[in-house]
Amino acid sequence: MGLPLGLLLMLQQPIIVDGHIDTPQRMLDMKADISGRLADGHIDVPRMREGGLTAAFFSIWVDARYGRGSAFRRALDLIGAVRALADTNGGVELATTAEEVRTAVGRGHIAALMGVEGGHAIENSLANIDSLYRLGVRYMTLTWNNGNDWAGSSTDPKRHGGLSAFGRQVVGRMNRLGMLVDVSHVSDSTFRDVLATTTRPVIASHSSCRALAHHPRNLSDEQLRAVARNGGVVGINFYPVFLDQHFRDQYEEMRRRLKPQSDSIRARHRGRPGESAFEVDNFVGQHAESLDVPTIDRLVDHIEHAVQVMGIDHVGLGSDFDGISVLPRPMKDATSLPELVRALEARGYSDGDVRKIVGENFLRLLTAGP
Ligand SMILES: [Zn+2]
Repeated sequence: MGLPLGLLLMLQQPIIVDGHIDTPQRMLDMKADISGRLADGHIDVPRMREGGLTAAFFSIWVDARYGRGSAFRRALDLIGAVRALADTNGGVELATTAEEVRTAVGRGHIAALMGVEGGHAIENSLANIDSLYRLGVRYMTLTWNNGNDWAGSSTDPKRHGGLSAFGRQVVGRMNRLGMLVDVSHVSDSTFRDVLATTTRPVIASHSSCRALAHHPRNLSDEQLRAVARNGGVVGINFYPVFLDQHFRDQYEEMRRRLKPQSDSIRARHRGRPGESAFEVDNFVGQHAESLDVPTIDRLVDHIEHAVQVMGIDHVGLGSDFDGISVLPRPMKDATSLPELVRALEARGYSDGDVRKIVGENFLRLLTAGP
């Protein structure tokens, strides 16, 4: 009678959409087969299932070292790795719309979405944005830690200005295609220029709150309010360095101390940026265990602050899984997501509100076509 029990149970679970996971670099550079359970990192298909992580934006992260003649190619290679996962794993479906996500989840599958991180990936060509869109990319983070010819980054002293005239054309092209503009990583002046230019809701795929931890990667209350007015969504980043100033101070001191070892790990993996970043994170992460790592409650503080400033319809999750060296205690990987859901419930959020935060708000932005 009615729906099979397995399907019923699944429909009771919220759809979780993670705005940003850094796993593709592992899949490409380290040949990590995430169809099986891996011994390290935060993400693989079995652990996504166990944690109820039904959908995630796989980050097509293009390292700053790639430039003209190599950056776009790098993006294509990473996209190829994600598409190969969907082609070879019957339980993973590539998705580009909310409807495709819901269909995949309804079949008991995981929905893989894609976002490009680092606007230098387009090598200053609007046609390359069209190509990325055709391949399934549905957002682009305008900068990474490096700024580019047309947009400034919050962490690049050489390029922290706003959007150039071409940068405004990039936003216009993305708006027309229906590719979300992602303001995580961008400088404050680029943020302002984007919000003045865009005709559609924007996202911050993985950014936390500056009012609680003053880091340039975090968003001020004024910026949070601007995203809410624009109809957009901010995915709160899980990285303890962005969540807690005391931890950040300890952590940065430790990184300085470990720099010689980190440099030699980088030298060993030269030419393979995904592998290099991952191994350095692994190494630093082990040492971070001895620091005062903030707890999951601190992460919920950021979510709660964003909800208070923006309203319940504008907050999501952007874990940065596989791109960060340490997680709030006691989280260890994607299997820890139910703990986050429980922590939200414990703060008094209704089932409907929890569903919005963990996935429905991002899905809303994937509903409107071009
Ligand atoms: Zn990032």
